[in-house]
Amino acid sequence: MSIEKRLLDPASRKPKPDPETLQFGKAFTDHMLVVEYDSGEGWHDARIEPYAPFPMSPSAMVLHYGQAVFEGLKCYKAVDGRLLLFRPELNFKRLNTSDDRLCIPYIDEEFALSSLIELLKVEKDWVPSLEGTSLYIRPFVFATESALGVHPAHSYLYMVILSPVGPYYKEGVNPVRIVIEDEYVRSIKGGIGFTKGAANYAISLKGQEKAQDSGFTQVLWLDGVERKYIEEVGTMNVFFVIGGTLVTPALSGSILPGVTRDSCIAMAKSWGIPVEERKISAEEIFEAHESGRLDEAFGSGTAAVISPIGELSWQDRKAIVSGGKTGPLALRLYNELTGIQYGKLPDKFGWVKEVTLD
Ligand SMILES: *Cc1c(COP(=O)(O)O)cnc(C)c1O
Repeated sequence: MSIEKRLLDPASRKPKPDPETLQFGKAFTDHMLVVEYDSGEGWHDARIEPYAPFPMSPSAMVLHYGQAVFEGLKCYKAVDGRLLLFRPELNFKRLNTSDDRLCIPYIDEEFALSSLIELLKVEKDWVPSLEGTSLYIRPFVFATESALGVHPAHSYLYMVILSPVGPYYKEGVNPVRIVIEDEYVRSIKGGIGFTKGAANYAISLKGQEKAQDSGFTQVLWLDGVERKYIEEVGTMNVFFVIGGTLVTPALSGSILPGVTRDSCIAMAKSWGIPVEERKISAEEIFEAHESGRLDEAFGSGTAAVISPIGELSWQDRKAIVSGGKTGPLALRLYNELTGIQYGKLPDKFGWVKEVTLD
């Protein structure tokens, strides 16, 4: 499919935000990618056009039944000026996993990647170069058919928007305070917890709000059936270091298979650190803490990279982890991962894809 370019003339492009004060997802670049889908016709009319509001029917199905999925990845500027993507093929593969679960038509993964690269070529000057900043990439698909009957829609839009970003949490790589939620649940096996379906985030807001009202940064979710086993944090997978072993919940169908999670596991294994993917109960975590064996806890995700957990709260129990500081493995993973992503360290796993600009 060819991509039509309807570009703004240089004089009407926006000024770039100050890289020093970038927040997460507040500023957007000049252009976006749009591809339409209609049943019978398939995906068509791919174009790069000015970033702007667009008309949508009040009966567009996404507004009523939430048939929407998204992805999140980043474009990093290396010190030598190269633009780098990190394992982008996994994001487009996961987009289709999400699409499949939500009855959204499949998008050709090679087209998704090549059209993203076309958009990045147009917006290359928007990739910030200050340390810790990047251009966040948000691909998403949603149902646009005008209808109120509940059924998989017959028309969709696939779009990609770009946002220059700084650190996800105002704490940066500093430890966050997390509370284990035992009233609300995020997902159950058989549901859509393993997808980046938009509804997963709608369902998490209440717990998130409750946590923030009590002074916590994020929620750590428990499994939706027994409310015993650790699942993940709002937008991050979670890891614990217990007696020298790196432990993370197994992918059981209710948690998101993070690209960062997978990368952390591969890096840790390559360093000879024992890794276990299994069920972990909240009780086990607090017992490990009480017996002095809980060395570290941290979250992993594209947006926040590695986010150390300095304090974990559950009912009336509280664990200060790593003395409330960033633990050594969290720091090592953060340095290795960002080193690879920004092209400062050798890409020994073959994870980096350079965006060729010519
Ligand atoms: C996106 C996301 C993650 C992290 O996935 P990455 O691929 O590492 O960015 C983890 N949990 C949830 C719920 C997410 O939405």
